[in-house]
This record gives sequence, structure tokens and C-alpha cells, in this order.
Amino acid sequence: MRDHECSHQALAEGLRQRRLSRRQAMWLLGASSGAAALSALQGCAQSPVTGQTIVVGMSEAQERSIDAQVAPHQFSQDLGAIQDATLNRYVGDVGRQLHALSHRPDMPYSYRVLNANYVNAYTFPGGAMGVTRGIMSELQDESELAALLGHELGHVNARHAAQRQGQALIAQAAVVGVNVAAQNSRWGSLVGLGSQIGASALLASYSRDNEREADALGQDYLVRAGYPAQGMTRLHQLLVDQEKSAPSLLATMFSSHPMSDERRDTAARLAATRYAASSQASPQRERFMDQTAGLRRLKPTITACKNGEVAMSAKAYDKAQPEFQAALRHTPDDYAAHVRMAQCLQAQGRGQEARAHARQAQAIYPQEAQAHKLSGVLSLGLRDPARAFEDLDRYDRQLPGDPGVVFLKGVSLEGMGRRPEAALQYRQFLQFTQQGQAAEYAVARLRAWGMIR
Ligand SMILES: [Zn+2]
Repeated sequence: MRDHECSHQALAEGLRQRRLSRRQAMWLLGASSGAAALSALQGCAQSPVTGQTIVVGMSEAQERSIDAQVAPHQFSQDLGAIQDATLNRYVGDVGRQLHALSHRPDMPYSYRVLNANYVNAYTFPGGAMGVTRGIMSELQDESELAALLGHELGHVNARHAAQRQGQALIAQAAVVGVNVAAQNSRWGSLVGLGSQIGASALLASYSRDNEREADALGQDYLVRAGYPAQGMTRLHQLLVDQEKSAPSLLATMFSSHPMSDERRDTAARLAATRYAASSQASPQRERFMDQTAGLRRLKPTITACKNGEVAMSAKAYDKAQPEFQAALRHTPDDYAAHVRMAQCLQAQGRGQEARAHARQAQAIYPQEAQAHKLSGVLSLGLRDPARAFEDLDRYDRQLPGDPGVVFLKGVSLEGMGRRPEAALQYRQFLQFTQQGQAAEYAVARLRAWGMIR
């Protein structure tokens, strides 16, 4: 379905959106896949859902590539998959059942419940999906979970990210790393909670029409999979209630606040008409309650963490700290609570205590990268570059491709007196960006060492 008008439009859009330098994209996508991905940045495609011609900012190969490169970083910013194999498997089972019935059954879908406490769910363009424990603990039955996953599948199937984001998505994800680096260009400065807003926030910038289409597709998949269509209505009611009780906790999926009532009413209308026959189906409440029992025991911990995060975002550290303490009293080995406590203490300049919590988090969940970075940054602040390097290198091996960490590894090596290796890190960082405080610092060091003019 390639026609003249579409190519012309694609070209114009391509020029408008070309905010990302070739070098930055190459860095992000890896040298091997970068060239192929870049050549396919703009074009026309047939909507997998409607069959109509759509302008897309990425090829299917690039959708998959972004998932592989960017999604792990975002999931780690949301503190990784919850350490509850039963629950992750369960959500995956529900997801698989739905995506097998979708318009793009062959995308590389994957599902996990994230340790994040805020109420959210999001999907990368290739189908890598994250549901926070914050929203998981609010759901009441499997049909609501299926509605949530169905909505996210709707975005993947209609290729909303490809249509709207294109390079902007990559650019944004790349910028996250640079910001972190910039904030840490001097020893002892802090990585704030602010750096959490990354790709997921960008994924939220779907249009209202995109959201409506994802709802419609989600409800369709829901019913096809044998659930009552009311699951979607109840999901939206939950969001409406959340919006009323705690608007500051709502993120991504609900960024289109004024639409919540409309979306609930649309779902209710369709449930009563087109999908009326589905009302006899079971919402699978018992099965849901069985599978999520462990998570629901964590509810007080999640709530305390959520309250603490809200206080943190208002810089009310004196209010935040008792919340994280309460969370840790309830669940002493909660990874998220230790990370948040560390960040709260870090923000108050209490580096030693902060690092103690970061180290506990590392010990609790060594496979998750975020605590390694936090511990590394705190060690730099405590003038302990050797320990910092160890932690940052661990992070870098688990989650390669974070330019901020490449830079901080350079700082650590410099602090250890390992100048040639530090220079290597700074050079690698400068391949990614030559702007910002961190880049200026790296150039200044290389110049002082006579390695560049
Ligand atoms: Zn959505």
C-alpha cells in the first residue's frame, strides 16, 4: 500500500522528527543493527488492525530492536521484575492467551510485574510489557488484568508507537542516560527520583484516538479470550476512583485524565450491546486471588512506599522517611523499599546510611541492576572509587548501553589513578554525546592529559 502521497508525507515527517543524530542512534541500537534500523526509519505500512495505510516512524525490525535495547533499562528503572515467579508466570499466561488471539500474534511479547509502586502499565512497541505491583495490587479479578493487558496489546497491534514516536522514542530513552550523567558530573552529586521519568513517560504520549482504539481492541481481545467484557468497564472504574483519591500517583496509562469517565462509559456501553453475550463468562476472581495472594500480603508495604514516593517528589524527606521505615518494618527484605530508603537518605546528604540500604538491596536482589548503580553513585560520593567502579561495572555488565554509567565508570577509574582506562571510558562516553556537563568534564580531562588537543 505504497502511494505517492504517503511517501511524501513520510519524508516531511521524517525531516520534522529527525532530532536524533545518526551517531546517537547507532550508539543506542548497537553498531550492527543501527545502520539497518536507520535506513528503515520512515515509511508506509498497512495497519495490522484496520488494513489501512499508516505512516510509521519505524519498521517492525526496529520495533523489535527498541524493545531489546531500551525496555530492559526502563524495567530496571521501575526496579525490575518482582521476585515472585508464580505471579510473573501467571501474568504471562494471561497475556499469552490474549496475544495469541490478537492481530499480531507473532510479536516478541513478554510480561512481568515490576517492583514499582505507582499505578501504571506500559508496553514497548515490540510487545515488552510491564505492569507495576502498584496497579496489580488494586485489581480484583482476572478479567480486569486481561483488560489491562488487552489495552496494552491494542497499542502494539495498532502500531501506535511506530506511528507517533519513531525516533523521538529512541531520543528520549537516550536522553535519560545523559541526564543521569550530567547530574553526576561532580563527585557526591545525586541521582534524583526525577531520572525515573524515561521511556515510559514517552510511551504515554498517545493521542486520545490511540487510547480509544487500544480500549476497543483490548475489549475485543478480552471477550475473544472468554472473559466478560465488563472487565474493561471495571478497570476504567478503578482508574476513575484512583484519579479521585490520589491523582498524583497516576501515571502513563492515565495521563489522559479527562477521558477516564468517557472510556469507562464506552466500555460499559459496548459490554451491554455488542458484547452482551459475554456477561455470562466468569471473571475468574478465585483464580486471580489465589495467584496474587503473595502480592496482596505486600499491600501495606506498597502503600507505604507509594506515600513515601509522593512525599519524595515534593522533596518532603521528613515525611517520606517514616513511610519507607514502615514499609521495611512490614517487609524487611523488600528490594523497592530499600532502594527508596537509600534514595531518601541520599537526598538528605546521608551517604553512609544510604549506601547501607543500597547494599542491602543489592544483596536481596543481585540480578536487578538499579541498586548496583545507586550503590556505585553513593560510593563515589563517599570517595570510595574502587567500590564505586565495582558496582558500576556490575550494572554495566547487566545493563549495557547506559552512557551515564560509562561516564561514571570513567570518574571511578580516574579516582583510582587508572588514567588510561578512565580515558577509554570518557572517549566512549563522548561517542554518544558531546554536549552537557559530563561531556565538558570528559573533554577537559582528556585535554589535561594531553590525549586530545
Ligand atoms: Zn494506553
